[in-house]
This record gives sequence, C-alpha cells and structure tokens, in this order.
Amino acid sequence: MRALAEARVPGLRIVRKQDVGWMRALGVALRPLNPRFSTHYTTVVGRTIYLPDGPLPERDSQAVTLGHELVHLLDMAEHGLSFYATYLVGPAPFGRTLRAHWERRGYAVDLLIARDRGGRRAVEHLHDWLSGLFAGPHYGWMWAGRDAAHDYLRPTVEAVLDGTLEQREPYRSIIAAWRGTSPPAPESP
Ligand SMILES: [Zn+2]
Repeated sequence: MRALAEARVPGLRIVRKQDVGWMRALGVALRPLNPRFSTHYTTVVGRTIYLPDGPLPERDSQAVTLGHELVHLLDMAEHGLSFYATYLVGPAPFGRTLRAHWERRGYAVDLLIARDRGGRRAVEHLHDWLSGLFAGPHYGWMWAGRDAAHDYLRPTVEAVLDGTLEQREPYRSIIAAWRGTSPPAPESP
C-alpha cells in the first residue's frame, strides 16, 4: 500500500503527530471536540500524512489507514483549494457538512477491506459504526443524526457489496495493493 501511495503522490511524507509542534498544539485545541485526535486519528495536510501517537498499529490496519488517506490525497490533488474550502466548512443548513462527501470517499476503502476480511457482516457492522462517527463530534457533526448518516453511507455500502466500487479508480488500485496483486486490466468493451 505504501508503494502505491508513494507512486501516486510524489513527495509523500509520513510522520508522527508527536514529532510536529503545531500538530501537538492542534491536538490540544481539538481536545473538547475529539479527545483522541492525537492518539487515534490520522490527518493529512498537503502531501504529508500525520500518524497518531503511540505504538504503530498492526500491519493490516496501517494498510487500511494508508488506503483511506490516499483517497484524500488524490482528491486534494484533483480538487485543490475547493477540497480544503469544503472540507473545513461548518455544518450546512441542510444538516450536513461537505466534509461528509470526502470522508465517505475515504471510508469506502475501509468498507472495501472490511468486505475482504469479514464479508457482508463486517461491512454492515462498519456501516453502523461509521453512522455514529459521521453524526458525532469527532468530525464536527458532519450529519444531523445517526439515521441520516446511515442513509447517506448506504449507496457506498451497496457499491462495496455488489462489487461495482472496486472496479473504479482509485479503489481498484487500492484493493489490488491490499490483496498484494496488480490491478486486473479493465475489461474491454
Ligand atoms: Zn478521512
């Protein structure tokens, strides 16, 4: 997964939050919103991935994190300033923040890999867990309410389960990296 990320994002850096002064300060500032920002959450700024403090997680979950962050890095490269502007904007009047759009794209990686590891049950379990995450304070209340977040995630969950998502980039390359294979050639029409 790291090789894929380095190939797709020239100049990619991966550092620990604890080694960067302003990241430590941000962790303190965000404590009321997300007390685990420094210890459990990975953050991407520019071409740098900031890993949480503490012992490195096992290899598989590092690969999941890297795949998720790679989607953000590619979206940032493609959409530039509009990514940051919409990622940072507060709750919209219609009850969700635009950040939810980008995070749904990122968590599609987590869902795809969950399917590989534990099938439908694992995907549904993660769907429920993500609904709480999307509706809660950790990402600044992206969704008003858990049920709304659950509905918002459903199309992605369905595309994971029926196999259509993994045919699209960047998911195709990411899932191939996860499985340790090269992505299959696209089917000719
Ligand atoms: Zn994310």
